[in-house]
Amino acid sequence: MVDLRPHHLLDIVTSIGHGHDFTPHPYGHNVHVVASKTLAGIDWKARFVIGADEICRPCSHLGKDGLCNDVLRQVQPHLSKQHYNDSLDARLMACLGMKQGAEMTVREFLELINRHVPGIENICTHPGEAKSERLDGLAKGLSRLLKRGTMQGEIIQDV
Ligand code: SF4
Repeated sequence: MVDLRPHHLLDIVTSIGHGHDFTPHPYGHNVHVVASKTLAGIDWKARFVIGADEICRPCSHLGKDGLCNDVLRQVQPHLSKQHYNDSLDARLMACLGMKQGAEMTVREFLELINRHVPGIENICTHPGEAKSERLDGLAKGLSRLLKRGTMQGEIIQDV
């Protein structure tokens, strides 16, 4: 079972939609690993959490107390990333009707997100990012991931 913050997966889907490459980050976190796993298939199970996840696990900013010690530099004064992330993931889960610790496949999660597009960008757009850009990346990423993995004859909402 892979623990994931909901917004970390949404960030990956958005980056996929924008056609970005995933390479190891100087922080040492696992974004590139989880992105590769997602690109390879979406029928693996995840537990959605508000807290450190599989992406954070090897990150140099994850303290021994299990909390992120990084800050959001695009806002003044700088915001605690732990606080920002916890608040963002709590709002996402409330919007999606999910409980902390909910388990589902990535496909099920993306189908849930797909039913909130457009709209979810009002929650998951980060400071300094344009909502229209976030929506565009999300829609394209969802389309790519869901359509590619869809069984013949199954209908999904076009995004
Ligand atoms: S939330 Fe903090 S600990 Fe987790 S990957 Fe980002 S910077 Fe690292």
